[in-house]
Amino acid sequence: MEKQRSLVKILLTNKEKILESNKYNKAEFGDLISELTDVESSRQGILEKIEEHGSIDIPKLKKELQLSEKNLLCNIEYLKELGFLGYIGAKPRFFKDVVETSKQNGIFPNVTIIKDSNLCSGCGLCASICPVGAISYSEEKFDFDEEKCIDCGLCYICCPRAFFPKVLKAPEENDVPDINFLEQLNYYQEICTAQTTDERITTVAQDGGIVTTLLKMAFQQKLIDGALAVTEGDEPLKPLPQLIEDEDELLHTAGTKYANAHILKIFQGCRGHDKLAVVGTPCIMEALKKISFFPFNRPFSDKIALKIGLFCMESFDYKKIGELLKNEFKSTPADVKKMDINKGRLIIYDHNGSASDVPIKKIKKYGRFGCFFCDDLTSIHADISVGSIGSDPGWSTVFIRTKRGAEFFQKALDLNMIVKKEIKEDSKSFESLSRIAKSKLKKFEEYDRPKMIEQDPDIRKNNFEEVPKGLTVDMVKLETQRCLQCGNPLCVTGCPVNIRIPQFIKLLKQEKYIGALYEMKSYNLLPAICGRVCPQESQCEKYCLLSGLGEPIAIGYMERFIADWERKNNLKECPECAAPKGIKVAVIGSGPAGLACAGELAMNGYDVTIFEAFHAGGGVLTYGIPEFRLPKEIVKSEIETLKMLNVKVEYNIIIGKTLTIEDLKEMGFKAFFIGVGAGLPMFIKVPGLTLNGVLTANEFLTRSNLMKAFKFPDYDTPIKIGKIVTIIGGGNVALDSARTALRLGAEKVIIVYRRSEAEMPARREEYHHALEEGVVFQFLTNPVSFIGDENDDLKQMGVIKMELGEPDESGRRRPIPIENSEYIIDTDTIIIGIGSRANPIITRSIPELKISKWGYIETDENCQTNIEEIFAGGDIVTGSATVISAMGAGKRAAHGIDKYLQEKYLDKK
Ligand code: FAD
Repeated sequence: MEKQRSLVKILLTNKEKILESNKYNKAEFGDLISELTDVESSRQGILEKIEEHGSIDIPKLKKELQLSEKNLLCNIEYLKELGFLGYIGAKPRFFKDVVETSKQNGIFPNVTIIKDSNLCSGCGLCASICPVGAISYSEEKFDFDEEKCIDCGLCYICCPRAFFPKVLKAPEENDVPDINFLEQLNYYQEICTAQTTDERITTVAQDGGIVTTLLKMAFQQKLIDGALAVTEGDEPLKPLPQLIEDEDELLHTAGTKYANAHILKIFQGCRGHDKLAVVGTPCIMEALKKISFFPFNRPFSDKIALKIGLFCMESFDYKKIGELLKNEFKSTPADVKKMDINKGRLIIYDHNGSASDVPIKKIKKYGRFGCFFCDDLTSIHADISVGSIGSDPGWSTVFIRTKRGAEFFQKALDLNMIVKKEIKEDSKSFESLSRIAKSKLKKFEEYDRPKMIEQDPDIRKNNFEEVPKGLTVDMVKLETQRCLQCGNPLCVTGCPVNIRIPQFIKLLKQEKYIGALYEMKSYNLLPAICGRVCPQESQCEKYCLLSGLGEPIAIGYMERFIADWERKNNLKECPECAAPKGIKVAVIGSGPAGLACAGELAMNGYDVTIFEAFHAGGGVLTYGIPEFRLPKEIVKSEIETLKMLNVKVEYNIIIGKTLTIEDLKEMGFKAFFIGVGAGLPMFIKVPGLTLNGVLTANEFLTRSNLMKAFKFPDYDTPIKIGKIVTIIGGGNVALDSARTALRLGAEKVIIVYRRSEAEMPARREEYHHALEEGVVFQFLTNPVSFIGDENDDLKQMGVIKMELGEPDESGRRRPIPIENSEYIIDTDTIIIGIGSRANPIITRSIPELKISKWGYIETDENCQTNIEEIFAGGDIVTGSATVISAMGAGKRAAHGIDKYLQEKYLDKK
């Protein structure tokens, strides 16, 4: 096997840069290199042997390489994670895309994952290990200096969010004699509540002051000669990791352990110490363990004399602590002497000795996001774990886990530096400890994301019934367990209407379905629709932290579940409306933008009328998206909910023709929302466009969906479909047309798309459905002519092969025709589904309205146009987009309208 690019080589190449950044002196650098050289050759050796055997044969490898099983297993997991063992079917377990995104084909990954600030938990370990200072950690985020980065991958290795080998999770062999074990509390010999007897410590340290007292005792007794702990920096409330070298320093800095700052200043910096204590939260303990193995192959440094774990439930970054103090305590960092968490409340003590507190529940919004990867409240890797849960104010709860931990604790007791009271396993304290620890246990690795029950492809391609059938109650129960309930849920930021997804999932988990429904509908009045057609994969689910580890939570499926549960139980939950304001607002268009705007305004007490050009409401939901993806009964039912909010709907009225905005003003409407979509079909410039058998997707789908041509002759709209139907385009419109054509009896359906599969804008789920049903895809192919017979009936299509060039303004790679690659496809129906544009009917009737050169209405961020009483949103502003983005715009516009009407009419009353 070819030698992999080594970390040693990278570090040596960048020696000057590394020494310049002052993290290592020459001697330290030399030590580091020699240690790493040994590790690399052993790792390379394992890789070569595996290749030689063609399999992972642990006993054989152990014998041949003379390595311990643990060492082997750790290295094998690591090699798997980097994608080196893919050829024998071993897949990475954590960040599935590290293999694809890693620029560097070497024994160490590059830093792509670390650069994803959405995944950062803010421990700062990456900043501390980076040998060139390319990562700086300030306030709540890190900054990454691309110029300085040498792509060594050390930061990835120490990140607690990156892969953590299961082998390392096990407690160390000699550490745990005579242990008790409870899943939620891990291993322990004894649990007690304890307090320092040192008055000085009481005034500065948290809870019972146990961490500081143990360290003080250990310094005094020379059991340690250094401690890595979080201590106060130059400014108040800005804790930093520091190597504390004596008792005085320790006492000066005690009491600042509430923040989850990085404790590992520089791994190498501890070299001058033989007996170190480390203090940290579970993630820091884990990272420390991992980092000591990768890249050093030395499972937890033998120089560590004591590991004190801190309970970790809620964590705050520095910026958020500032917000918290200002908003909840009306104080500043400089006022604070110490902070405690006790009995579900956060208590702040100031320098005058006064204390004020707030319930933890109330301060959750200041918590940092998603620090739930360890599943561990109490630090399984610690000798002793210390926290406040389970103890009275002024006391700490202590878990003694290991023999070493027991010795340290006993010594402090013998020296009368601490006093303790036992916590019995049948006590209330024990019960609350286990309950809280259990709530942190996540099960995301234990269950797979549920697969939706679906109609069989061979059957469904002949009917218009809905393809997916939804999730069962049991499936939902399991899926809710996977949710991490992140403190700062990124899924919510990915949702254009900002549904409080974790709260919704929590209510589902508790089987409080009415509550879940109400929670959902407070943000989204159309959950049955969004649960079916929203591209969750590029919105909420894309941002789910679990998507970095495997499969994101099935948020869309659960949204659909709750809406279907409501219908099945003949319920109609709708949010409460404010008192009527007596002001009329006209909403033009009943697509998702119009419906969302109308709902929001009605809830706010406005008298809302929707004007719709067609005889049915829903916009594209009704005339565009086919029955087998979105049953029209569901659209109708969701519009009914709006009627419960007193929204009136007037059908068959084209604003700009039947009535104008001026007419509506005369009818008493004070503000207007234009949500007329972008329904004008686009054509391509090829000869033969007027042949019989050439249709636009708009016409085809409208006939089938709105006019119910698929039920002909029960409905009197016929639709002609040929034997070989070719669709042009790669979006949802093209796929819907293809699958409709199949169901209407076409023998063969081909989709011709000028870009490649990767660039196709259609939803992935729908693409797979289309493939399963037998739709044929011809990628990188573009039409050049439509060819007819003597009767002008379409017979064939001339096409040309394409290749991809540089990305265009949409960010997708531009398709370029390949010279002399034309060929002919037999086809008797062509459906053009390449998109649509703004319909000018309404904009022409309001000449002063500002529009773009493409005919889309221009608005500000509140959806207000240049005419103050007219607002607009949805596809008529953005061009063809998505249901949920149209809804988001509708909601924003409703807020804009409310503000406008308040200022103009209501504040004056
Ligand atoms: P529309 O839904 O177009 O609604 C506009 C409404 O205004 C229509 O009812 C129209 O009749 C009415 N109207 C127009 N002019 C006037 C007038 N002058 N007077 C009165 N009424 C008027 N998005 C997804 O998120 N997921 C999908 O799976 C998906 N699939 C799609 C499939 C197809 C076939 C199509 C065409 C689009 C699809 N989309 C999908 C896109 C999505 O449906 C649109 O982005 C969304 O419907 C836009 O909402 P809107 O309210 O702005 O406009």
